[in-house]
Amino acid sequence: MTGHGIIRRYREFLPVDNETQIVSLNEGNTPLIEASNLVSALGGGFHLFIKNEGLNPTASFKDRGMTLAVTKAAERGARIIVCASTGNTSASAAAYAARAGMTCVVLIPEGKIAYGKMAQALIHGAQTLEVRGNFDDSLELVRALGEREDIEIVNSINPFRLQGQKTAAFEVCDEIGNAPDMHFMPVGNAGNITSYWMGYKEYMDSGKSSSKPRMMGWQAEGASPIVLGEVVKSPETIATAIRIGNPASWEQALDAANESSGRIDCVSDDEILDAHRMLARTEGIFVEPASAAGIAGIFKSHSLGEIPEGSNVVVTVTGHGLKDPGVAIDNAKSKSKVVNPDLESVLSAIGLG
Ligand SMILES: *Cc1c(COP(=O)(O)O)cnc(C)c1O
Repeated sequence: MTGHGIIRRYREFLPVDNETQIVSLNEGNTPLIEASNLVSALGGGFHLFIKNEGLNPTASFKDRGMTLAVTKAAERGARIIVCASTGNTSASAAAYAARAGMTCVVLIPEGKIAYGKMAQALIHGAQTLEVRGNFDDSLELVRALGEREDIEIVNSINPFRLQGQKTAAFEVCDEIGNAPDMHFMPVGNAGNITSYWMGYKEYMDSGKSSSKPRMMGWQAEGASPIVLGEVVKSPETIATAIRIGNPASWEQALDAANESSGRIDCVSDDEILDAHRMLARTEGIFVEPASAAGIAGIFKSHSLGEIPEGSNVVVTVTGHGLKDPGVAIDNAKSKSKVVNPDLESVLSAIGLG
């Protein structure tokens, strides 16, 4: 079954039973799009498929984990969910809490979340607190709040989040017919790469696929603790969704890279912005800057000769471009023009005059 949310579709792989009251917005079942224009621009030689997770209900992959986390929180009788967020977790938590009739509290780093994400938290009625600190400070506070019985943490330290997110790997295998050779994705708190790896392993163990991909994770240069091997105290990057200096799933992400013969590397903000613009221009796919880190990672890997001829490559683009319109307008590197209301002005403005 497709299109009725990830819990119904993949319940045999998830910790639910027939009694479970599912809280869903019909997340998942997102498009996997072959990106031949982008590959041609790189000189060809491999197959690239883009898993467009920006087309989930709140426009990021976070919905896959949130449906399960909120379902399980409601099942045990929690009334309040809380999360620290760079924006997308809070957008998703706010929406699913509204759906479940629960209270949602979100802690976000002051002034550092994209405009669209702030709009989502507020319109869904979440109690939205801007913390004078970074994401890592907010997560500390959330851990303390989670000590209370009536509060459930829905950050990725909640194991149900990762369980839900692993379903994206199932969908990729179901659509291609097997696992890809390589899987590229951005890495922030490192939950998603952990989830995908879990999903690929479970699918192979259950006989639904016969191989596993090399996991290729990409941090932003100014927020690359895993690459540096040490906590980054003041992470900085234009890609706010991966502006994280001390990832919660650090060890698991390293395991995913090592066990799969993949790796975790970083790309600069300039490389991220080039990839952001190029994906939009060559394939018509508009993502938020963090999502472009995986695309920039493909460019980098390709230039290093790491992508074998003929391989099947999947890249997850994690969030929709409309989340962060300000960055897009700056990065488009073209401006709208004002014209007089006559044909001559229009033709001249578009270079046909
Ligand atoms: C959360 C998020 C990430 C990072 O995922 P992690 O699981 O924290 O590594 C990347 N891109 C977007 C758009 C996100 O919302």
